[in-house]
Amino acid sequence: MSENDYTDMWTNLGIDLEAHDRLMKTLGQFYGDIYLSQTNRPEGMKYLDFVLSEIHGLRIRELLEAKNEGRKIVGTFCLYVPEEIVLAADGVCIGLCAGAEVGTEQAEQILPRNTCALIKSFFGFKLARLCPYTESCDLVIGETTCDGKTKAYELFAELADVFVIEVPNTKGDAGRSLWRSEIGRLKNKIEELSGRTITADGLRAAIETVNAKRRALARLNALRETVPAPISGRDALLINQVQFYDDPVRFTAKLNELCDELDDRVQRGIGVAPAEAPRILVSGCPMAAPNWKVPYIIEKNGAVIVGEESCVGERGTRNLVPETGRSVDEMLDQIAERYFRIDCAVFTPNEDRMGHVREMSERYGANGVVHYALQFCTPYAMEAGKVERALKADGVPMLRIETDYGMEDFAQIETRVQAFLEILR
Ligand code: SF4
Ligand code: SF4
Repeated sequence: MSENDYTDMWTNLGIDLEAHDRLMKTLGQFYGDIYLSQTNRPEGMKYLDFVLSEIHGLRIRELLEAKNEGRKIVGTFCLYVPEEIVLAADGVCIGLCAGAEVGTEQAEQILPRNTCALIKSFFGFKLARLCPYTESCDLVIGETTCDGKTKAYELFAELADVFVIEVPNTKGDAGRSLWRSEIGRLKNKIEELSGRTITADGLRAAIETVNAKRRALARLNALRETVPAPISGRDALLINQVQFYDDPVRFTAKLNELCDELDDRVQRGIGVAPAEAPRILVSGCPMAAPNWKVPYIIEKNGAVIVGEESCVGERGTRNLVPETGRSVDEMLDQIAERYFRIDCAVFTPNEDRMGHVREMSERYGANGVVHYALQFCTPYAMEAGKVERALKADGVPMLRIETDYGMEDFAQIETRVQAFLEILR
């Protein structure tokens, strides 16, 4: 999508230039249709448009410069991997995307076809040599959340340097102590990788950096509680996606600037959609960039997405790590505790999530909830029924969508969304 010439950089990373060129053209087109076609967008979104236009260019150059300075690039695929620990060792933490249907055929030669699109996508990006982020990583941190990812990392370790942390799936004392010891093991691994000792000052600074980012995202979310919504759900999703790639300090400053603008819009009653547009909460699986299909369908049909009960949304940003820890161990305890509260569907039981969906739907004044699950994602598909029942108790209707990254079901999903919005109007 960039006009600058990064050919040498991509060649050195081993990227398949022809296929990459095709991918960037398709993405550029997709971005234009879904994002740039919106009217009445906040000015602050120009920064996000710029980041997206340079997503495989300028940001990769920055990462390679950081590498040249001896800093390590660490890739992650899940909210359970604490960015604070990577930052404390002066590393760069990148949430690898896995939101596009890329290299699927190659991926399916290694993985079963009935694997979720997210897993197939991260394999596909690697096998097709299409992702400069994946190729820049010194280490990828996996986690034993769902079975698909757990087994996939074993195979992925044949293609890249992978370190897997064990995430329990129950939240009792045994799970908590296992998780705390895994956080310690991760800290040791990051120290070994970086050749640096994590100090209390370094870890505290990292906690403050990540907290500041989460505060800015929470500020954005709070602004979306107003009627009319000051920003579209698509733009908010993009912000949530970019936070996994961008430099955290710069991103926080830019997001706060955007929030100042939204504050002003709220004061003046300026909305991105009419006040009577149906307000939708999206709940479920992560939507890694550039997975924009379902939000696009929802908003293209006249609704506005006001919140995301998702890993790329409030599941990832609620709860801060206390900034009061004095020793590294105390701060690691606090980090472990904060992350242990994430209400991923891989946990059993997982009542917190039901509470969060209900609380969010009320706080954002949602008229309906769209539950989004990737095909073959057992944890979220299984939980959809419970979420629906919990919302029913509050009289909030829910639409279940199960899909992948392909476009074949676009019209079918659109018809179902239109029918759902009719009920809400
Ligand atoms: S859904 Fe669960 S396993 Fe998947 S990214 Fe989110 S927290 Fe991690
Ligand atoms: S979307 Fe579901 S199946 Fe896929 S990696 Fe995440 S939790 Fe696992």
